[in-house]
Amino acid sequence: MVFPPTPAANSNPSASGAMITTDTIIVGGGPAGSSCAWKLNRAGRDCLVLDRETFPRTKLCAGWITPEVVEDLEMDPETYPHSFMTFPAMHVHIFGLSFAIPVPQHSIRRYEFDRWLLERSGAEVANHYVQDIRREGGFYVIDGKYRCTYLVGAGGTRCPIYRTLFAPAAPRSADMQVVALEQEFPYHWHNGECHLWFFQGGLRGYSWYVPKAGGHLNVGVGGIADSLKRRKDTIKNHWAPFTRTLHDARLIDGIDFETGGYSYYLRDAADVGRRDNAFVVGDAAGLATRDMAEGIGPAIRSGFRAAEAITGGRPFGYDDAARFSTVNEVARRLKGSKIFAPRRRAAA
Ligand SMILES: Cc1cc2nc3c(=O)[nH]c(=O)nc-3n(C[C@H](O)[C@H](O)[C@H](O)COP(=O)(O)OP(=O)(O)OC[C@H]3O[C@@H](n4cnc5c(N)ncnc54)[C@H](O)[C@@H]3O)c2cc1C
Repeated sequence: MVFPPTPAANSNPSASGAMITTDTIIVGGGPAGSSCAWKLNRAGRDCLVLDRETFPRTKLCAGWITPEVVEDLEMDPETYPHSFMTFPAMHVHIFGLSFAIPVPQHSIRRYEFDRWLLERSGAEVANHYVQDIRREGGFYVIDGKYRCTYLVGAGGTRCPIYRTLFAPAAPRSADMQVVALEQEFPYHWHNGECHLWFFQGGLRGYSWYVPKAGGHLNVGVGGIADSLKRRKDTIKNHWAPFTRTLHDARLIDGIDFETGGYSYYLRDAADVGRRDNAFVVGDAAGLATRDMAEGIGPAIRSGFRAAEAITGGRPFGYDDAARFSTVNEVARRLKGSKIFAPRRRAAA
């Protein structure tokens, strides 16, 4: 179908005339929404992505991605047109010990990556702040202005689809909430490794140093909100000790920080992700891994699954999205090892 011209952001719906109708509306153009749109578009299905922000937009995130993310997205690091870096190992600092774990990871900048994914999806995108969702005559109606048969909630932690259609059936557990502070800034780093500090100052969480290709650096600290609250602590209290660690390790020098904060949810037991023709994916569903709080991979996988459910290929579920980063990594390595290699049949 052909869409009417993309409406201006949040223009008065009553003044916009006819309702814009399409097969699927995806609320949120982050990795979850754009992955869903990419799959739908490839299957020849119409979809419209609504996002309150215009891309490129800032998304607070360390921007480290796993080899699976690269694989799932069929990314070719050679032709990816933005910052992309590979770390052969993660440098872990814990209880005074430091060691390298040979787990390859990559870094991207979300500012670039998210726009690239959304553009590549080929989907129509409109700048619109979704507020009101209703069910009318077999359609989902958004703000009296957009109408669709299938609705995908990919709006992150504050997703309006989650809030309106899923929150009562799938409430989020307070003990799964992560709070994080971070900053990404231009910096001529001299140490091009990825460093992680666990449990510093009694934090149930970790802090990170993630260099980006082309001279940016992302540093941050995140922990479980409930654990901080019980100790009458806040994530802000951990910022100054963390930046002292970075200075002492000679990883940074002379930076005046202006951090930003965000919160999101780790994967819980509740898995209610579909109601009628509505789905929630990515952070909207609270799918970040339980151990490392990685959310990009689960956002992509759940976005794919929503698309596959819409096109009728597979029933919806979150079973493709790993609950734990580390277990997933071990499984990935074992899969490639001889233990799981198919046995050869003896020649007759
Ligand atoms: C500080 C920090 C560091 C992190 N580091 C990592 C990391 O290194 N690796 C990793 O894998 N994960 C990391 N995560 C988690 C990761 O950022 C998220 O899990 C991931 O962005 C989820 O993607 P998403 O598409 O579900 O949501 P988002 O990327 O949040 O996208 C949601 C989109 O919905 C739009 N939206 C929201 N509300 C509305 C509305 N009402 N109307 C219209 N549009 C709306 C927003 O503008 C946004 O573009 C980090 C998170 C934080 C906070």
